Amino acid sequence: MRLIFRDAIEFDPAQSDITASHGEAIIRPTRFAIDAIDLVSAGDRGNRVLGAHAVGVVEQAADKSLCQRRVIVRPIVSCGECDLCVRGLREHCRERQVLGLTRDGCHQSPLCVPTANLIPIPEQLDDDGAIFAPMVARAIHAARRLRVEARPYVTVLGDDAQALLCAQHMTRLNASVRVIGEQPRRFQLCEKWQVKHRHADEIGRRADQDVVIISRGVAEPLDLALRLVRPRGKVVLLPGIVAGAFDAGAIIATEAELVGVETGPIDEALDLLARDEFDTASLVERRLPLASGAEAYRLAARADALHVLMDAA
Ligand SMILES: [Zn+2]
Repeated sequence: MRLIFRDAIEFDPAQSDITASHGEAIIRPTRFAIDAIDLVSAGDRGNRVLGAHAVGVVEQAADKSLCQRRVIVRPIVSCGECDLCVRGLREHCRERQVLGLTRDGCHQSPLCVPTANLIPIPEQLDDDGAIFAPMVARAIHAARRLRVEARPYVTVLGDDAQALLCAQHMTRLNASVRVIGEQPRRFQLCEKWQVKHRHADEIGRRADQDVVIISRGVAEPLDLALRLVRPRGKVVLLPGIVAGAFDAGAIIATEAELVGVETGPIDEALDLLARDEFDTASLVERRLPLASGAEAYRLAARADALHVLMDAA
């Protein structure tokens, strides 16, 4: 059974007839989430199984130490041999493929993926927590690229699950964080985490923020970010955003640095999640079976949706 995009998202209930070839493993998935990458994939890509990530149990693998382990699948498939892979930049491999975007993805059961894409999940972390690891990993990677130190002023533009996890992580790192969003329900969550929040209509544009992180949930976010960031500050762009119109002259005038973040260290994210460093339970909007995947995607694409999970059965 699988979720496939033809002209629209369709559920195909047939059991996939899968055999693993060399370097691959067969996984029995238990949990899926609809990530920002998936919302990009669910455009006009045609006849491809969706899904950048899944959590599940390894049923077959040439590496017997992996069998029956709980794992999360990471989305970038790399060759391991090109100059970029050799330099440690596997996510930027010359031959890279992205699950669900440029090759069949994870929203199917059973599932066959390269063994190199499997990351074991710590025992104390349940599947619901583990499925948030890719988003926590982006927050970790963003903070590293920004070199967050001292107590910077950070504005997070957007109030989807990715934005709120970035806000939680930057707060952990002692940044002064505020979330700018449009959904009043999210403000209650921010209050629970003692993160400042404002509605997008209520903010001044004083060009005093060291960092502005753009996720989904605010209109024309790049234009707004360039008004908020201080001269020579940094603007982070996360997957799934629609940058909208912006004035290139503003980048030149502010000398702002644009930083793209696509993925991050999922193994480190799993460890932090296992130590209960993030509130992920509050970020689950709905839970649906894979068979209701089309509805799950419609729900996840809504501006007011948080994270939508799918169960395999
Ligand atoms: Zn490569």
